[in-house]
Amino acid sequence: GLLVRVRNMVKHFNTSKGVFKAVQGVDVDIEPSSICALLGPSGSGKTTLLRLIAGLEGVTDGRIYFDDLDATDLAVQDRQVGMVFQSYALFNHKTVAENVMFGLEVRKLDVDRRKRVEDLLELVQLTGLGDRYPRQLSGGQRQRVALARALASNPKLLLLDEPFGALDAVVRKQLRAGLKEIVQTVGVTTIIVTHDQEEAFDLADKVVIFNRGFIEQIGSPTEIIRRPATPFVMKFVGDTNDVPAASLLVRRSRFLTSKSRVMFRPSDIQLFTEFVESVDGHLVTGATVSERANLGWTVRYTLRFDDDVEVEYSVTREQADGRLGLDIGQRIYLYVKPEAMMGFEPE
Ligand code: ADP
Ligand code: MG
Repeated sequence: GLLVRVRNMVKHFNTSKGVFKAVQGVDVDIEPSSICALLGPSGSGKTTLLRLIAGLEGVTDGRIYFDDLDATDLAVQDRQVGMVFQSYALFNHKTVAENVMFGLEVRKLDVDRRKRVEDLLELVQLTGLGDRYPRQLSGGQRQRVALARALASNPKLLLLDEPFGALDAVVRKQLRAGLKEIVQTVGVTTIIVTHDQEEAFDLADKVVIFNRGFIEQIGSPTEIIRRPATPFVMKFVGDTNDVPAASLLVRRSRFLTSKSRVMFRPSDIQLFTEFVESVDGHLVTGATVSERANLGWTVRYTLRFDDDVEVEYSVTREQADGRLGLDIGQRIYLYVKPEAMMGFEPE
């Protein structure tokens, strides 16, 4: 696999409203034969970065290296990348085999083409479907054809832009498992753009969190989930309570001002139904249960502090109907471990 290094990548678009800064100075390394996910909200610059790496867009500034080669100014066809997009982009008048064959022809490889197509269809688990037309396939099967076509020319780099975005959740999950296996078998370095966290965390060795053209954090799924680096990442990767530090009686005046806020996961709340003054020397905050929402498997309670600031607290339906159930209006006391809190100063 290829080592991809992106350095100080900048992309500006000239629009009728002026210059739009889609990518604003991005540095990332993608290790050989690994899967890297670009994750972030819509419009954050993920596709733009992928297109820059593919050579479909010219850079405004910065460099892209493929191993030791400076690939920044290479033409698309000289980059040896395979690409799959959300919309299938298969030729509807060609059979599955012909579609995959097209991937071969582009690169004019001198191999036994029919054998190669058969091998590729086996790889994506479509053995025997070579004579079908795209319209005779399910959405998931069509995306597997697109993947086989992208891999046909033995690319050094596989670029996927929301490849499963148009498919339902069950099919997505199946394709995800299949993709991981294929990438491992072929050993191709892979970059996948997605706004689906589950997909990113499940598939990728490295996740890059995008926001407004900047990178908020780069890390393994575990690092990002357990140690979010910024308030944005904290909110983006899980349910988050965001309250004034004072409401939670957080007294860390050394670095917290009256405007300071703290964030924590609803699942990190320790809740007491009897009065408790402190835990490990930290003050416990009194609150009242103000709302209960039944959300399928989970029940979400709203807890209101005495200064009217509200937080959310979730338990499973089973817990709520049993020992851990709370009544509206009930007085409770809550505590959050300092390690589970992220303190920050709002801008
Ligand atoms: P994402 O893939 O994260 O949803 P994109 O990279 O597609 O985001 O887009 C980032 C921003 O750049 C968007 O606001 C988009 O409108 C803008 N953009 C993308 N391509 C162009 C273009 N060719 N001209 C002008 N603006 C563009
Ligand atoms: Mg996109």
